Amino acid sequence: MVIYTLAMWTLVSCKSSRKSESPDAALKPINVVLITLDTVRADHLHCYGYKKIKTPNIDSLAASGVLFDKAVTQAPLTQPSHASMFTGTNPNVNRVRNNSGFALPPSSITMATILQKRGWDTAGFVSATVLKKVFGLSQGFATYDDEMPQTGSGMETAARPANITVDHAIRWLNVQQGKPFFLWLHLFDAHQPYHPPPEFLKEYPGDPYDAEIAFDDRQLGRFLDAVKQKSPPGKTLIILLSDHGQSLGQHGEYEHGIFLYDSTLRIAWIMAGPGVPAGMHVQQQAREIDLLPTVLDLLGGKPLTPVQGTSMVPAFFGKTVPSTYSYEETLCPKINMGWSELRGIHTTHWMYVRAPRPELYDLDRDPEELNNVIKSHSGEYRELDAQLKRLSGMKDSGTETLAVSNVDRKTMEQLESLGYVANLPARNIHLNGKGDDPKDHTATLKTLETISNTKMDPIREIEVLQQALKSDPTNPTLYGWLIDSYEKTGQYAQAVQACLNALHLGIRDEILPHLASLYLREGKLKEAVSYYEQAAQLNPLDIAGQNNLGLAYLQTGRLADAERTFQWVLAVQPYAPAYNGLGIVADKRKEAAVARKNFERAVQLDPAYVEAQLNLGMLCTQAHDIPCARTAFRAFLAKATPDYGDVIPKVKMALASMENSGT
Ligand SMILES: [Zn+2]
Repeated sequence: MVIYTLAMWTLVSCKSSRKSESPDAALKPINVVLITLDTVRADHLHCYGYKKIKTPNIDSLAASGVLFDKAVTQAPLTQPSHASMFTGTNPNVNRVRNNSGFALPPSSITMATILQKRGWDTAGFVSATVLKKVFGLSQGFATYDDEMPQTGSGMETAARPANITVDHAIRWLNVQQGKPFFLWLHLFDAHQPYHPPPEFLKEYPGDPYDAEIAFDDRQLGRFLDAVKQKSPPGKTLIILLSDHGQSLGQHGEYEHGIFLYDSTLRIAWIMAGPGVPAGMHVQQQAREIDLLPTVLDLLGGKPLTPVQGTSMVPAFFGKTVPSTYSYEETLCPKINMGWSELRGIHTTHWMYVRAPRPELYDLDRDPEELNNVIKSHSGEYRELDAQLKRLSGMKDSGTETLAVSNVDRKTMEQLESLGYVANLPARNIHLNGKGDDPKDHTATLKTLETISNTKMDPIREIEVLQQALKSDPTNPTLYGWLIDSYEKTGQYAQAVQACLNALHLGIRDEILPHLASLYLREGKLKEAVSYYEQAAQLNPLDIAGQNNLGLAYLQTGRLADAERTFQWVLAVQPYAPAYNGLGIVADKRKEAAVARKNFERAVQLDPAYVEAQLNLGMLCTQAHDIPCARTAFRAFLAKATPDYGDVIPKVKMALASMENSGT
């Protein structure tokens, strides 16, 4: 049997946990539709005054409801931002502090859990792996559709285009009946890399970002028509938010997540429906944490502890709402780049950034935040810093020790029941606002942007990354990319050396799985297993890494360990390579029926997964089940890549003899 090491992410079930449905408070039975647009700058929508784009569907929603002119996210990152929207709390309270390494605790009270408990039918349709079920935002959704298109290696792509997600959401809407519903639709097209459909690129030549937003708007038109057919406007609350913006080169940032400036903090927020006046602009600041209390207010309910936001509904009637201080943070510079984290306070007039060299901007006079006025405004600085300390939960020392555990209690129990990992090492991140100031490292951001967006020769990539490491020598991302480039060019010894250098500097998360797979490739199985085990302990939710550990156990003949590891992967989510692995374990134990069942599960999950098709075909051949063998081998040949060069002729020959024998 062929064994390939697999990397990357994939599959999650669309089922979701149901919590108690006993209603404990009456809410108006209004259908709620929440649309979140990833990475869409408010100032790139026509209804926010941007003349270069056509977004007629979003404009029409705005015309029929309220548009918040000054809405801000709590964190310029997808997971923390959505966690704040759903829970009404800041990241330091809901505990989702960065993408990936964190999950929303299962005890969280979210918009979906509240509505589900009160009898709403709930469904979420997301467009990127960053919002997979494993990260916890799925709680409260009876249906959670997070399956991305398959790559054919048993893995799935990182994202799917709006038209597919909208198709799935419309299909759900069409069969929904009997209960009020809460439907969440997330579209990811405006996130890099930009691949707008050709007709949109033609309409926005040289501006793929705007082309993606226009594409989202077109798909939203279809979606909103379907919503209207299902539920009349008088019974439907429709909310549209972006999760953060995109820097597009401002301040030396190209994407989002590093800095705390309006290019990524300002978001679109539009809502229409019962209780929402038409054609109104709200000028008071609205924070993401205000979304949940606002929605509950419109449904006739009240927010529960520990919600930190406030209902914006009084602002519809010209009243002042206490949304003055918006807490902001990004831990991405610290965790992903090895620099200082950033925190800040945003008000209607001021943006204060707590950085190693702090910044204060007068947003009225200097909306592009080019002129740091902190030295001439010590009073505002002191007041905003005090608010920051209050809202961030930092002690007087201005520090926070963040205990990182991306494994919740339930998952931990599952791990232990599988005899897997007894004691995961406690990990702490010390946040003290010290370290390199991210604004001193725009050269690193430029390097990463250049490599991402130019078709650079990998040899040249290595030179550029080595150069960048000279001025930013402890950057985990630069190391990760350098090791990738070495692997792409077949310089495996250099890749191993780079891993060892990084480990020596204390960089572990990015490096351990790389080093393990390099050792596996070299046939150094003992070292491979050891590093995979360390990586698995650091990040048990890294399904691809866990699966690789299973493959390494298989190669060292440790069948029981391999079986346990594949089962762990499947306890987290359905994953075709893990079924394939279990099939190989059973095959080695001569348990043909068990092996077949597992290979069949793998190809059911991903029919284009050639590895499992090949294994299934071979097993069926041995069992003289010719129809099964024929189907599997044909599926294998249809998608087999040149990696299978030596196997393809044998499969063709086996298939020909089956055809000739007429069986
Ligand atoms: Zn996002």
